[in-house]
Amino acid sequence: MVLKKIKDELGPSLYFTERQTRRSRLTASASKISTADETNDAKEMSEFESKELLSSSPQSNRQHDLMISKRRRSQFKTENDSKDWIAAAKTKKQRVSRVTSTETLPTRPPPHFWPMYNQIKKMRSRIKAPVDEMGCANVATAVSGLSDGKVYRFQCLISLMLSSQTKDEVNFQVMKILQDYFISKGYEHGLSLEAILDIDELVLDQLIYKVGFHRRKATYIKQTAIILHEKYNGEIPRTIEEITSFPGVGPKMGFLLLQIAWNINTGIGVDTHMQRMARIFKWVPASKNMDPEYIRRCFESMLWDHKEEWSRINPILVGFGQVVCLPQRPRCDVCTLSRTGICPAVDKALLKKADMDKKNGIKIDSKSRGDLTNLIKDIEDLC
Ligand code: SF4
Repeated sequence: MVLKKIKDELGPSLYFTERQTRRSRLTASASKISTADETNDAKEMSEFESKELLSSSPQSNRQHDLMISKRRRSQFKTENDSKDWIAAAKTKKQRVSRVTSTETLPTRPPPHFWPMYNQIKKMRSRIKAPVDEMGCANVATAVSGLSDGKVYRFQCLISLMLSSQTKDEVNFQVMKILQDYFISKGYEHGLSLEAILDIDELVLDQLIYKVGFHRRKATYIKQTAIILHEKYNGEIPRTIEEITSFPGVGPKMGFLLLQIAWNINTGIGVDTHMQRMARIFKWVPASKNMDPEYIRRCFESMLWDHKEEWSRINPILVGFGQVVCLPQRPRCDVCTLSRTGICPAVDKALLKKADMDKKNGIKIDSKSRGDLTNLIKDIEDLC
């Protein structure tokens, strides 16, 4: 009965996805996770998946039905207890940590920061990365054509909520699926607050199944929509404290949302690429806990007199991390920093191999998630 209802609601293509076995869905989910851009929630994620695995053992359809009805009851309860949610959000401990008097943060970047960062900026102007077209700053406009207004801002929030543990390319696909689905259901602007308030959580989960943690995200998106509707008249608030009170929304998403939706620049959104680069490039002082919050506070402190960089640094470093300085096997062979002697993380063995390949007439590998054509030309001229 449940499947038939979903089939009627979604049509044959999405119904087909529901017919996948639980095991294959878990396998797909695991593969998505292994290639995910972000790892900040890795521990939490693996615990979550283990619970899923336990609950997915072949215990018959009866157990599955019970689980569905339990979730339906919980959804009903959530929707009817939305005021409790708002109260809970109010009292929730704020996750945006502030600089404490005992914390020692660098007041300026190390000497090699600006030479490296400026060179990375130059490279970024020569390459195209997934974040440039499909990142959260562009995805709402790309799928709906909107670039301002309440609906646009809501779409920015949803794209950010979907983006954690998910590649930009996949996030873009899912935003397009949502937009097309809601347009087909008669919503003038497609993905909007009204559409999310109306949709069944299970159907939403089906629509966003390609993103990591889709079940949890479907729940968070529904809950956030209710909070926005009841507390903020459907508008995105303008402070980081209010935004991070939404379930599933942390400082990274919050600061990026303020920049994208309101052009408010009160903090730096630090993602996993930035966290990694800050550490391996030795841009921030070593600390026991080099988590994104520590990196964010360091960046904000170091760049206090360069606030114009607060909104630029994320897309610059994320795009660079997506196509050149990859988390595994960075492409030092195409990076113009590799021969300057200022990158502390350069892979010298890879450079030796690149020199040998050049001698033997082997061309530089241009395979990438982005477009490296211009950068390869630059590096060929340099070497
Ligand atoms: S590690 Fe390699 S790719 Fe990354 S910045 Fe250094 S030289 Fe460039």
